[in-house]
Amino acid sequence: MQTFRCVCGNTLFFENTSCGNCGRDVGWCPTCRQVSGLDARDDGTFACVSPGCGAVVRKCLNYSQEGVCNRCIAVAGTRSGELFCDCCRLNETIPDLSVDGNRARWAQLEAAKRRLIYGLDSLGLPYGSAADGFDPPLAFAFKGDVIPTQGLWRTMGEGERVYTGHADGMITINIREADDAEREKLRVDFGEAHRTLIGHFRHEIGHYYWDLLVRDRAEDGFKAVFGDHENPDYGQALSLYYDNGAPSGWQETYVSAYATMHPWEDWAETFALYLAMAAMLDTAFHLRLVDAAPDGDLATMLARYRGLGLVLNEISREMGLLDLVPAVITDAIAVKLGFVHDMVGGARGAG
Ligand SMILES: [Zn+2]
Ligand SMILES: [Zn+2]
Ligand SMILES: [Zn+2]
Ligand SMILES: [Zn+2]
Repeated sequence: MQTFRCVCGNTLFFENTSCGNCGRDVGWCPTCRQVSGLDARDDGTFACVSPGCGAVVRKCLNYSQEGVCNRCIAVAGTRSGELFCDCCRLNETIPDLSVDGNRARWAQLEAAKRRLIYGLDSLGLPYGSAADGFDPPLAFAFKGDVIPTQGLWRTMGEGERVYTGHADGMITINIREADDAEREKLRVDFGEAHRTLIGHFRHEIGHYYWDLLVRDRAEDGFKAVFGDHENPDYGQALSLYYDNGAPSGWQETYVSAYATMHPWEDWAETFALYLAMAAMLDTAFHLRLVDAAPDGDLATMLARYRGLGLVLNEISREMGLLDLVPAVITDAIAVKLGFVHDMVGGARGAG
């Protein structure tokens, strides 16, 4: 991620909705692809004030009405009546806003989702809705379990329990993952190095890209690197994993214990690590912590990531926090990352 600059000279960040210096409204302009100052116009639209842009934009409805987005829609060249930005229009289900705290949870989910989409765009990965002609179409559902409030049971569906996961392009996130205390408890229970919203998005989008890039296209190559996904099948693998856990020594060949469950989970965990690595290197370049932009060479990416990881982990430890870069990338894991890297490279711009 990069930082941005307001026309007043102040630094702006990806999540900003106003400038702390000049007080302007701030939002993502789809024309110059910057977080930019916005000047209100008489007709309710805004002008992007980034030098050289000047696009006339509208705020996404989830920005102007709901306060959970900071993106704009270009007035010119956009279907009239389009209410939502490029990120929000992928939503299929949003949380029940009559439940206390759900709006704040939703805002956190949207912020993580926008960061995901920025990362996909940076890598040139294709994605889109059914209207864009994508099969499977990418969509998001943010749902809560049944929670008793004021003596009533409120839920999206009768007696529903929501599993975070992916099916046919639909990424479902249980909104309790947006609760820090809940999420940390789950992290400890599952023995995970990290558990974050952006991490969930990066993992689940990995399943989406398996369907889009690997299924019926590169399955033999996939099997050679990740193992046979058809034997044992996913259901058998799941019950084996919950009975026996991860084999000892998994760290040599897997990025996480969960990755040992089935080749699809191994791929999703490895894909998530690849997205995290690319995002971290992109940020490091923009903030001048490394002196070159990612150049498409995996060995260089890995070398920079290891160097950066060492520094960031030491700083995290100094502050008593979890290691920022917990994964040790062994040669076996690098081979899996290499397969992901080739798939991403092959997909670049293919949408
Ligand atoms: Zn400003
Ligand atoms: Zn602009
Ligand atoms: Zn939006
Ligand atoms: Zn998964």
